[in-house]
Amino acid sequence: MDIAIENESPFQPVAQRPRHVHVITDRFSMANTYLINEERLIVVDPGSVLNAQLLLSYLLRFLHRKPQDIDLIVLTHLHPDHTAGADALRKSTGAPVAACNAAQHSARAAAAGSRADRGGIGGAGVSQFVGHMFSQARLPGVLHHLDLFAPAYERQSQLVDIWLEDVSGLPNHLDWRVIASPGHTPESLCLYNPFSYELLCGDTLITLDGGTALVRGGANRRQLQHTMQTLESLKVYYLYPGNGRPILSMRALARVEW
Ligand SMILES: [Zn+2]
Repeated sequence: MDIAIENESPFQPVAQRPRHVHVITDRFSMANTYLINEERLIVVDPGSVLNAQLLLSYLLRFLHRKPQDIDLIVLTHLHPDHTAGADALRKSTGAPVAACNAAQHSARAAAAGSRADRGGIGGAGVSQFVGHMFSQARLPGVLHHLDLFAPAYERQSQLVDIWLEDVSGLPNHLDWRVIASPGHTPESLCLYNPFSYELLCGDTLITLDGGTALVRGGANRRQLQHTMQTLESLKVYYLYPGNGRPILSMRALARVEW
């Protein structure tokens, strides 16, 4: 019996380009580090100093690449569980560190706040801090203790060599677009690739064991709602959260819980 052969294969690629993101979970803070493996490499959120060292051995052993092949380090936001190893990694690779330019405003505000009120909580108001504490307390599982405070913007912003603007492409990696995503922190950003439908979302979203994406608590719920409207308008097949397992699904943002 003849078998009819369709002209079009039923196995079409799901995205225009294959994904090329590796995840390494920092075994100390449980925050995720991502490695975008292109002709040159991008590290997103190096995590702790020890995790940055593990990342370099992963690079050599499994990808057969050199530390100097990394040409950019991106921080999704300035909480220390994501940034502590950034300076060590910059020294090992020579790659500049990039973060959202909203952190510059926070650093200036923190400097003004610390001059006006020495002994405050990292420049953040007390009500903001208490609200953040309550939002974190509802999280099941691990208490992300390093994530409770507003980033120390004055000190953390000294880590940054390149200030990224909303909607711009990453330097030398223009397919990766910056999405300013205030809410979890004012300077949070996401990275989106509109050709492979990959979204790295920092701590804006985390995932739980059952595979549900959860909007991470933040100081500013109205900003978070606006950020989520932007993210939910994107076609996302691969969601890479700052904490928890990545979601690989044709509708990765279909079931987001608050
Ligand atoms: Zn965070």
